[in-house]
Amino acid sequence: MSPAATEKILTRNFGRPDSHTLKAYLETGGYTALPKALTMEPPAIIDAVKRSNLRGLGGAGFPTGTKWSFIPKGHTGPVYLVINADEGEPGTFKDRYLLERDPHALIEGMLIAARAIGSTLAFVYIRGEYVESWRHVSAAVGEAYEAGYLGRGLDVVVHRGAGAYICGEETGLISSLEGKKGWPKLKPPFPAIKGAFGAPTIVNNVETICHVPHIINRGAEWFASLGTKTQGGTRMYSVSGRVTRPGVYETSVAVTLRQLIYEYAGGVTGNGRLKAVVPGGSSAAILTADEIDVTMDVDGLKAAGTMAGSAGVIVLDETVSIPEALMVVARFYAHESCGQCTPCRESTGWIYEMTRRIVVGRGRKADLDTILDVARRGAGTTICAFYDGAVGPYISYIEKFRAEFESLIPK
Ligand code: SF4
Repeated sequence: MSPAATEKILTRNFGRPDSHTLKAYLETGGYTALPKALTMEPPAIIDAVKRSNLRGLGGAGFPTGTKWSFIPKGHTGPVYLVINADEGEPGTFKDRYLLERDPHALIEGMLIAARAIGSTLAFVYIRGEYVESWRHVSAAVGEAYEAGYLGRGLDVVVHRGAGAYICGEETGLISSLEGKKGWPKLKPPFPAIKGAFGAPTIVNNVETICHVPHIINRGAEWFASLGTKTQGGTRMYSVSGRVTRPGVYETSVAVTLRQLIYEYAGGVTGNGRLKAVVPGGSSAAILTADEIDVTMDVDGLKAAGTMAGSAGVIVLDETVSIPEALMVVARFYAHESCGQCTPCRESTGWIYEMTRRIVVGRGRKADLDTILDVARRGAGTTICAFYDGAVGPYISYIEKFRAEFESLIPK
């Protein structure tokens, strides 16, 4: 493994019990990027982030600097920065670590990002279940005000969500932040043009923003060199399921899925045989055991027919039933659909019901093709990407493990 792959950047302080405090952050070089950023003009900050190849690490993988550059030039009204700390993707728990263990990294990143986009008011939208995260971020915001980092050009509001998966979708999150139902909105207009409270808004994930101070301090080229040609830096991978050492591992985005499973997470539990892996949270298409020699960057996984998503790696061994796994995923999507779009509202429920009856031995011969047909017809027709995300598992689980589904259907 390359030296770059083993350098800890975001997680370097996680071993300290007081890592969430201002004192610990300052002792380990915290708030040293901010003065540098304050000497830079906003376009220079955006340019540095573009050259670093930092991609959004919440799910979509969009280039961060490019997203920032979408704020209309010459806009004179308010601009908002919103941090997406909703982290609802099943199998993903890395932002929680950052919120609990290094909240000042997020605040320093927000200060720099806010300068880049011309924002004086920012929000941290934290999912309701993340109580400890909310406590630590709120305490850190209080410390940052007391120390004078906040309140002199940027104010931060910490807002708790109520635990709906769809509030992790940026327009759903904005609706919720505005005090409405967490319903996604049709795009365009995109939030950078018309977002929270009608103003241009940039929504960024926690981990994405935590990288920004390091890019300013150590340079865009350094950051870009840690990753692949089209994605810079390291990333925090949440590894769960049938592995010896489940947990959060920070490494280069150039790491392969095989390395993550066998070198970082200690391999399959009890030396069992690998059956399949979900590489990027539950919405990602599943990979078989023969498909794990793939780099874990956005474009590497896209080329493999799946996605990096939220980097939630779920490992399944031979003891796991793929039809049952799909049933659990399908139940989740049926429950979390916000219900605005007919294809999503109806199909998620139908697909869950068909999957369930296959699992309990009452499936019909036509069910598998019906699920594939329904899934394909609905894709690309809905307000938000929720349904397209659900389609990934519906299709890939059946296409790659069809025989296992068929073995449960009465002849
Ligand atoms: Fe709601 Fe689903 Fe439509 Fe998204 S795709 S807006 S979750 S019904």
